[in-house]
Order: sequence, then C-alpha cells, then structure tokens
Amino acid sequence: MAINVLGYGVLQSKTPLAPYQFKRREPRADDVVIEILYCGVCHSDLHHVYGDWPSRYPLVPGHEVIGRVIQVGDNVTKFKVGDHAGVGCMVDSCQHCQPCQHGLEQYCEAGNTLTYNDHDRHDHMPTFGGYSEKIIVTEKFALKIAPNMDLKSAAPLLCAGITTWSPLRHWQVNESSRVAVVGLGGLGHMAIKLAKGLGAEVTLFTRSKGKELDAKRLGADHIVLSTDARQMDAVKGRFDLIIDTVPTIHDINPYVNTLALNGTHVLVGYLGDLDPFLNTLPLIMGRKSVAGSVIGGIAETQEMLDFCAEHHITCDIEMIDIQYINQAYERMLKSDVKYRFVIDMASLKQNK
Ligand code: NAP
Ligand code: ZN
Repeated sequence: MAINVLGYGVLQSKTPLAPYQFKRREPRADDVVIEILYCGVCHSDLHHVYGDWPSRYPLVPGHEVIGRVIQVGDNVTKFKVGDHAGVGCMVDSCQHCQPCQHGLEQYCEAGNTLTYNDHDRHDHMPTFGGYSEKIIVTEKFALKIAPNMDLKSAAPLLCAGITTWSPLRHWQVNESSRVAVVGLGGLGHMAIKLAKGLGAEVTLFTRSKGKELDAKRLGADHIVLSTDARQMDAVKGRFDLIIDTVPTIHDINPYVNTLALNGTHVLVGYLGDLDPFLNTLPLIMGRKSVAGSVIGGIAETQEMLDFCAEHHITCDIEMIDIQYINQAYERMLKSDVKYRFVIDMASLKQNK
C-alpha cells in the first residue's frame, strides 16, 4: 500500500512552497525507508520552483537528504534499522548501460531517475524530494554516513559536495594543481574545501566584495574580484581547472583567458546557450577546454563522503525551519546565505 507523506511543495511554478500531502510507493524488497532529519536547500530546487527549468508539478524539492533508516526490505544488506543514510539527486538508473556499469549512473543512457521531478522507472509513480517526512529508495542509491559526521552539515554534501568533487577527481586534481572556483555559494564553498583537501592551490573568483575573509577561512589561497579587469589580467594563463558554479547566464571568455595550457573550464551551474559567444582563439592557441559536469556516481559520492569524514570537511550551514523556506529562496537569490540553508525537518511537525 502506498504511504501518505507530508512535505512542502508547489502545485505549479512561481508559487510559494506550502504544505503538501502526497503518496510514496509501497516499499519494495530492495528498498530502505528513511525518516528525513535534514535536507539542504540547493539553487536547483529554486530553479524548479521558480520555473527556470522545465519541471513537472506538483513538485516537492530537496535532494540533499540525511535521515535515519526506519524500515528495510527483505533483500536489503547495506543498511539496518537505526542506521543513518543519505540520498542525493538520483534514486535509480537502468543499471545496464555502459555509464551505469562504470559507476556513472548520473550519465545513464536511459536517463537516471531523479529524486524529484521524475517518475519511478518500475511503478511510474512520481518522485518527490526531501522537503518531507520520509523517503523510500533502493539501497543501491542510499549512501552510508560515517558515525563521526555531523548530520546537519553533511546534508549538502549529497549535492553541493559531489557536484564539485566529481570534476575535481575527473580532472585529477592533486597537490600540483591550480584550481579556481567561480562563485562563492553552496557549490562554490564546497569546491574550495574539497580542492584544498586534495592539496591544490585554490583561487576564488567572486563578484561580491566582502567575501574575502570568509573565502580565506574556507581555504582559498587567493581571491580575485571578477569585476576588476586588472585583477583578472593578473591571473591570465594560471589555472589548470576552473569550476564555474554561477547559476545564470554570464560571459565565460574572461575566465577562459585565465586557463593555463591544457586547462579546463568546467560549467556546473548554468544550463543553456552562452552569451556572449565563446571565442575559440584562446582554446585553440592554448589547447584549452570548456566542459560540463553533472553531480557524480554513487560510488564516487560514497568516496566523497568518506573523504570528508576522514578529513573533517563539512558544509557551512544556516539551519532553518521548513516554514522559512520561501524567505530562504529570496535570500539565496541575493547570495545572502553562508553557505547553505539546511532544513530541520522536525519543524514539519508544526504543520501536522
Ligand atoms: P548559490 O548558493 O546560489 O551560489 C551561486 C553563487 O554564484 C553565488 O553565491 C554568487 O557568488 C554567484 N552568482 C550568483 N549570481 C551570479 C551572477 N548573476 N553573476 C555572477 N555570479 C553569480 O547556488 P548553488 O546552490 O551553489 O548552485 C549553483 C548552480 O549550480 C545553480 O545553477 C544550480 O542549479 C547548479 N547545480 C548544478 C549541479 C550539477 O550537477 N551540475 C548540481 C547542483 C547545483 P559570488 O557572490 O561569490 O559571486
Ligand atoms: Zn542540488
């Protein structure tokens, strides 16, 4: 029998999030049922609610989920009742295609099943996210959380952490790398910490004056104000890898100029056409690349969580009640969050 769950969602785009009662599937033999304790607030949630991206409604956002396992199916071996578990942006994939076979479920050729704004690939019920009491997920897509981790500040690792970790690992960042991060928000602050954890020299590009001290505290070695042409000129030809987290359309040509020979500018934030056009001259003359990357695979997500547990890397968070979510979105649009909102899901009881 399907399970009734209370969450916060929207019935259509551009409307405030409000309490929403919905049904989740009956748990299957390979499923765990997780009581959600905390859920991070990602800018992607905002893109969906504000109608920036094509979305299905009703929609319950949330893909940075940490909770406690309260039920396990007969075939579950990875978790037992009482364990802590995490859920990120995907809850399933075909498991057969080449990317899935190589632990790259995020690039599943049949399309991975998103945690929300999607349909279950077996029973076709809509998927709903983590701004809710409970989630049901196959154990393959649930992540183990080390006992020494602070659960609240681990939640954003499930998206902001893995989205920045995956390109750092793919482009083999190490102690001799020079990495730059564009934008100090949820993803940006994790990119700094993780690149630093891998031993790289890290530079932050920001358009916001006043983030310097925080950026240093988070681990950045250098800060460049991207609106200052002289500062941009001073780092020309410097970086092996740039991770660009800016959520809206922006000119990437000035950043490409700061890439070293063979350097790569990875877009993780903005989806869509570039404007102004990308000038190919610096790419050709310096064998530079412009690339994109989406979240990370399940094994890689576990690797990142374990790396964070071992290196005591956590997210800087501001805890909120679910009833504050619409104000939180407004603040996120103004870059007024240090550096991730995390919802205390116990607050949902006030809507019971
Ligand atoms: P966020 O917390 O709002 O941070 C974005 C940062 O970008 C801001 O703090 C700001 O930093 C900078 N920024 C914002 N507007 C800008 C503008 N108009 N021009 C230049 N810089 C601007 O967002 P987030 O949660 O980190 O997410 C960032 C983007 O990544 C979103 O679009 C999100 O949907 C996307 N995302 C992608 C993936 C993936 O798998 N590829 C996964 C998760 C999220 P400064 O003030 O320092 O300039
Ligand atoms: Zn996200």
